[in-house]
Amino acid sequence: MRTIFEKSNNTDGISVTDAVTDIDYIDEKYLRENPVGLPQIGELEVMRHYKELSDRNFCIEKGFYPLGSCTMKYNPKVNELLASLEGFTALHPLANDDASQGALKLMYNLQAALTKITGMDAVTLQPAAGAHGELTGMMIIKKYFETKGENRKKVLIPDSAHGTNPASAHMCGFEIVQVNSDSKGQVDIEHLKSLLDKDVAAIMMTNPNTLGLFEEKVLEISKLMHDNGSLLYYDGANFNAIMGHTNPKLMGFDVVHINLHKTFATPHGGGGPGAGPVCVVEKLKEFLPVPVVSFDGKKYFRNYDLKHSIGSVKSFFGNFGVLVRAYAYILMMGNNLKEATENAVLNANYIKEKLKPYYDLPYDVPCMHEFVLTGERQKEKGVSTLNIAKRLMDGNAHPPTVYFPLIVHEAIMIEPTESETKAKLDEFIDTMIQIAKEVDENPEKVLSAPHSTPVKRVDETLAARHPDLTFKE
Ligand SMILES: *Cc1c(COP(=O)(O)O)cnc(C)c1O
Repeated sequence: MRTIFEKSNNTDGISVTDAVTDIDYIDEKYLRENPVGLPQIGELEVMRHYKELSDRNFCIEKGFYPLGSCTMKYNPKVNELLASLEGFTALHPLANDDASQGALKLMYNLQAALTKITGMDAVTLQPAAGAHGELTGMMIIKKYFETKGENRKKVLIPDSAHGTNPASAHMCGFEIVQVNSDSKGQVDIEHLKSLLDKDVAAIMMTNPNTLGLFEEKVLEISKLMHDNGSLLYYDGANFNAIMGHTNPKLMGFDVVHINLHKTFATPHGGGGPGAGPVCVVEKLKEFLPVPVVSFDGKKYFRNYDLKHSIGSVKSFFGNFGVLVRAYAYILMMGNNLKEATENAVLNANYIKEKLKPYYDLPYDVPCMHEFVLTGERQKEKGVSTLNIAKRLMDGNAHPPTVYFPLIVHEAIMIEPTESETKAKLDEFIDTMIQIAKEVDENPEKVLSAPHSTPVKRVDETLAARHPDLTFKE
């Protein structure tokens, strides 16, 4: 074989190359005349290059990640191991039910777990993200009213809502009507009452809301809505705040989506994949996307037999790998899901109380899993919330969510999650206090931050629309 080996003229003995070239089994005409043009760089150098690049990335395994509303909790690695089992990864989505019993059983059990956690009666696992779950839920609500022969066009959405809520309702053809918050950061009930008429299909609510506050009048709200013949949609992306303590059914909701990639420990932040299952009450069961997974006592099967189904919203079963991770996480945690919520709430309140003297707290009441500060005091001294966020990066923390919710000026939205130790929380608190002091004593230090990151400030819009992925020293 004279393909890649040069014929050796070595006279010291028989070389390996000589031994192989004795076998002349590739026809001369196929042999390469010039050496193949491989990059002149070894595997080790390539590995170091990519490792170096990956080290520049920030992730939960590297530092504190208090991104409010996003629930950046630790994702146990055993979930990855289970999701990569060959029986799951090599199963073809078109394999028939008999050949897919294991995967179907997993989905069936996950459906059961999610109905238990949300208190609801039925669930679809198809939606690929939270916003996709919202769209699915709103399509269900739309079809429900169509089936009843009612043409309700309006959806009420509190001004504290996540931006995806109005977007999803609008995509479904609904008209969005904003409900104001009162001075305590709660839905303004009087305003809500003034908006109710027979044209209102539903209200979309997050509870706790995006201020991290539990809507204390939620039962009154659900009664008002139901008395008006309207439905209630629960944005359950922030389920980490209530697991095992209460659920949307008890609060009177009809439809809820949950973010498996937030509450149920699937890695996120890089754009997916995620999963946003939608759970509904009994009367909306027949409207779910098909197929759902059912069990006839002997066999798990894909059930397409739903009378008013809105159709499919995602090919096959959605992001199956995410479902495996969530199921593993739920089984592993068991009743400790309740404790996870308790610790998430405790951690948020701990940081809030410690930072209160240094930053303004617009709603000074006990919070749930997150809370919102305002950087107004610092802004008056010429340092905006954006600068504070950038300076935090020097303290090995991912900046919190900023400028959201919109109803708080210079908002800084902090969600520590249950995963962190007290030592880590204290480290973050110290950094935040140090920054507040710098704003008084050395504002230039904050205004020119970050000082320790590979790149300083990027044009975020440009970076998102025209990413330049070439490597520059
Ligand atoms: C994250 C989030 C969403 C959207 O979820 P995606 O998976 O990003 O589409 C919706 N509502 C709230 C309150 C959220 O925090």
